[in-house]
Amino acid sequence: LQMKLREFEKASSLASLTAGIAHEIRNPLTTARGFLQLFEQRSDSGQDKEYIELTIRELDRIQALLQDFMGLARPDCEHFQEIDARNLTASVYQFLSPEASLCNVELVCDVPEHPVMIRLHPGRIKQVLINLMQNAVHACDKQGHVTLSVHDFDNYITLSIIDNGCGITDLHQLFRPFFTTKQTGTGLGMFVSKHIVEEHYGHIQVDSMQNKGTTVTIYLPKLTLSTV
Ligand code: ADP
Ligand code: MG
Repeated sequence: LQMKLREFEKASSLASLTAGIAHEIRNPLTTARGFLQLFEQRSDSGQDKEYIELTIRELDRIQALLQDFMGLARPDCEHFQEIDARNLTASVYQFLSPEASLCNVELVCDVPEHPVMIRLHPGRIKQVLINLMQNAVHACDKQGHVTLSVHDFDNYITLSIIDNGCGITDLHQLFRPFFTTKQTGTGLGMFVSKHIVEEHYGHIQVDSMQNKGTTVTIYLPKLTLSTV
């Protein structure tokens, strides 16, 4: 038990350290990016503008890495809360609408008429949904559709993200950290999402067909106060 406790302490201090460092890097990054944009606007040289844009893109890459990486560390301030899952999907829908319309992808939300109450970390499950929805949107080409659907069962709920995109070729690599097929991908989205869902005692199921689309389903048990 002593050993287990020590391991647990080590893991949780590592987690808060990670979150802290990621957070501390983000702030100066934002400042640097802001000034670069200002320089870009002021500059008359096409060459300079090109280099500045390149630098901004690299900063954005660090930003994306930190964003995904931070999901691994649980912020201490957030707790499990009893919420209506429909509110979560609505806010994710809203958050992703601009990006989806930029990519010409139609977002659809399919939720029950009644409240779907469940205990979870709202911010962390929201991050999972954003990761998975972003992947779905990016997988779509022409006439893309991404549906986020919620189903309520006796002991668990499911959150499904259904796309009609390119499909996943490397299913067995999907959850491996840093596995990405994108030029600017971090390869951390799926890895972090699995970690968060398992933290909720749930699991993720993936069904995919090449050139037909992908369905990712999150199963979340309805936890009671005694289990959390
Ligand atoms: P990233 O999005 O940064 O590449 P992820 O961990 O989120 O990292 O995803 C890993 C890889 O899995 C992606 O690069 C992509 O190849 C594949 N993938 C994930 N979701 C989908 C999807 N819905 N459709 C097609 N491919 C997907
Ligand atoms: Mg991703």
